[in-house]
Amino acid sequence: MTELRRESPYPMVSITTARAVVMAQVAPLDTEQVDALSAEGRVLAATISAPEDVPDLPKSAMDGYALRSADGLRPRRVVAELTAGAQSGLLIGPGEAARIMTGAPMPAGADAMIPVELTEERDGLLSIQRELQPGAYVHTVGQDIACGQPVLACGTLIGAADVGLLATIGVIRVPVFRRPRVAVLATGDEVVEPFAPRPAGAVRDSNRYALMAAVREAGCEAISLGIAPDDYAGQRAAILHGLEIADVLLTSGGVSMGTRDLIKPILAEIGTLHFGRISFKPGKPTTFATSGGKLIFGLPGYPVSSLVSFEVFVRPALRALQGDPRPQRPLVLAKISAPIRLSSDRPEYQRVVLTWREGALWASSTGSQGSSRLLSMHGSNGLLLVPAGDEILPVGAELEAMITGAL
Ligand code: AMP
Ligand code: MG
Repeated sequence: MTELRRESPYPMVSITTARAVVMAQVAPLDTEQVDALSAEGRVLAATISAPEDVPDLPKSAMDGYALRSADGLRPRRVVAELTAGAQSGLLIGPGEAARIMTGAPMPAGADAMIPVELTEERDGLLSIQRELQPGAYVHTVGQDIACGQPVLACGTLIGAADVGLLATIGVIRVPVFRRPRVAVLATGDEVVEPFAPRPAGAVRDSNRYALMAAVREAGCEAISLGIAPDDYAGQRAAILHGLEIADVLLTSGGVSMGTRDLIKPILAEIGTLHFGRISFKPGKPTTFATSGGKLIFGLPGYPVSSLVSFEVFVRPALRALQGDPRPQRPLVLAKISAPIRLSSDRPEYQRVVLTWREGALWASSTGSQGSSRLLSMHGSNGLLLVPAGDEILPVGAELEAMITGAL
């Protein structure tokens, strides 16, 4: 029988150090060409410039009449009707006007247009109520986008407006950073598939499924490596296989002080172990290693610990790997809606509901914060960073919170 160790041989690092150590190992992955018209959520790997002017011709900005501003206020003879679409070939002479619809190219000779609301037309004769400056109500060539103008910069996280811009300039393929492939391995002799019979005392594998969902939500491809029993050779083989097929490997469980906690020694054997303990709750044994340029996160077994560690340490890395220029969740100051007794040993990320009330963000706890109580994460849209200390913080005290969901 192996003896239980009393003290961890792994030095404890701070949250800030751990985050910095992880991010120092991250660079965007290689790039691929994708359909620009459904590229939302991807990050551009090159700057896209406009190959043409938008609009390409002077166009009417409103429904009304195209005319010559130099004709002043005198009535005009209406000689044609122009709709949006092709160029007309029409020439507007002195004393003439053409009905024109929004977006129709301006006819030659006309240098302004007047909205229909400011006109009257009777028996083919147009009278206008206002004198016009040259160019009035005309969209000029390149007014919205000029030919050659950089439209979307390299590193842009493509959103709906960006898809619209790419469509506008006729760019239908774009280079983007590849999405990371993330393999997830559950460990533990007691862990069984949720769909398999559960022997008394066994635990259903919630971590692998929750982590794979979080991986997909972070924009990555999730690959299941199944459940590995607590056996050194078996876990080592599963990890090596994961490293072959994925960019990032996540393991759950097997990183604490138990005699069957094998992940840390395996990672130290096959790669470089950067840290094996972080001074925070809930997730002190969170471990980070690299091997052959790939990232390996040994996440704790308790369901809340594994998901909170994912949020704080893994998700930013996954976003940065796909080129996201802002890989971190937004931080805000939130007021606490009930007193909090600080704990002396470690800072804690508490799961909270953030709501906007009376001109401030308020954080209320999701209830008992036990590491096994996954319900404490359900419904939470923020992680409140409660510092270590020995005071009781009063209602209204302000703490840093990470926004993890819609407010
Ligand atoms: P460990 O760090 O491996 O000792 O795991 C700590 C506790 O987390 C175990 O006793 C289980 O109750 C729980 N646990 C471990 N792996 C999983 C998993 N994949 N899904 C749900 N709970 C787990
Ligand atoms: Mg275990």
